[in-house]
Amino acid sequence: MQTVRSQRKPSVNDVVSTLPLYRSAPALEVRLEDFELFAMDRLRVLKGISDGLSRGKRPEEMVKLEDELWRANMRHPQPSENMNKDIISHFVLRLVYCRTEDLRKWFLSMETTLFRYRFGKKNAEVQRALMAEFALSYKAVSNSEFESVKDKLVQVARSIGQKDLPTADTIFYKVPFEEVSELVATRRVFIHKGHAYIAANQVVSLVATQFRSHLSKALIWTNRKWTSTIREQENDRLSPIVEALSTSYLGPDYSQPKGFSEISVNDIEELAKSSFPLCMRHLFDKLREDHHLKHGGRMQLGLFLKGVGLKLDDALSFWKAEFSQKVGSERFDKEYAYGIRHNYGREGKRTDYTPYSCQKVISSTPGVGDHHGCPYRHFSEENLRAALSKMGVNSRAMEDVMDKVQNRHYQLACTLTFEAVHGASCDSGINHPNQYFSDSQKILQSKNPSTAA
Ligand code: SF4
Repeated sequence: MQTVRSQRKPSVNDVVSTLPLYRSAPALEVRLEDFELFAMDRLRVLKGISDGLSRGKRPEEMVKLEDELWRANMRHPQPSENMNKDIISHFVLRLVYCRTEDLRKWFLSMETTLFRYRFGKKNAEVQRALMAEFALSYKAVSNSEFESVKDKLVQVARSIGQKDLPTADTIFYKVPFEEVSELVATRRVFIHKGHAYIAANQVVSLVATQFRSHLSKALIWTNRKWTSTIREQENDRLSPIVEALSTSYLGPDYSQPKGFSEISVNDIEELAKSSFPLCMRHLFDKLREDHHLKHGGRMQLGLFLKGVGLKLDDALSFWKAEFSQKVGSERFDKEYAYGIRHNYGREGKRTDYTPYSCQKVISSTPGVGDHHGCPYRHFSEENLRAALSKMGVNSRAMEDVMDKVQNRHYQLACTLTFEAVHGASCDSGINHPNQYFSDSQKILQSKNPSTAA
């Protein structure tokens, strides 16, 4: 059993507060399997939050979602290990997400959102302990002081359109007004004798800002450490895990057809129109047009077709029928048939390769003459609009899709396309091209059993 030892002891506050601030990596022996599994569980939580936010969920819906995600993924079979899992998973993902600016930005934003929700759920005592950790030692306003300024506080709450007006149960803190300049500038607080009276829910913002700033610095530091020493020292053990985690796919395996029968060569044309996601539809169209696809395209489409149930012999005839029009059948047998057999685990190391997830497709970097990749990420706006319109996406849905694309939520853009094309919702979101296919088939089958594969 291989283990990883992290370097520094946790602070006392990390342990007592029940909401760690992740100031220092704990001195724990971690099994390599846990190193990866814990990180993937936390990633499920962060990805769920990211999806919820970009779907425009309301704050109360987000609190519920965060609760569900945390309960489903972050509980350890031994409750005493919950805290360790929390801390270890955070530090592993720091290694994974410190390596580029885009990764850092995403991780920073999701971890801060998660922290904000978790802080908001803590009782006043824990919140005060956490504030003290950030040197935010504000005093809670006593009952008698609250009564003396109550009218003013209610007045401010009304003026900013707050639904729940302050009562004797609402906790307020007195803060030097210059420390909450943003709240002062927008007249969201009552100020008296140099102090701003801020409600507990406004404190969350202050603490979250501190958390974000600490984590941001820590990510830069981790990146320096990673590039200067850790990566080299851990070349064989951690590096492959860390590399794989940033593009890891967390959903079901689509290497076998799910919930539908195998397909034959004759079905492909029809299925491409009805049930292929745009990435695969584009590859299929290009293959038909050019009778050729470069390596990246052959892999992406070939493994997808394998996952939707195209048998090896049918795959060979399908590719041969197209390629031989361009390169002749002899050259196809010599140069291309091997790659197809390889994908089905019949050549080389005999690995049964799995179809690519959205994350893998989205993070690919197609070059000139390549047609693989995710159209929501890799197409120009003009080409994407044309392709969506060809799929039957109406102009209203098109604007929603383009809005997601502009905000770089490519899988959500694909989900909205799915919903527009099928006239049905897809609550789980699209995470895998083969999931798009199988969900589409399920809907078509329920509408009209004779049209599905
Ligand atoms: S989001 Fe996924 S399924 Fe949709 S087009 Fe991109 S890679 Fe394909």
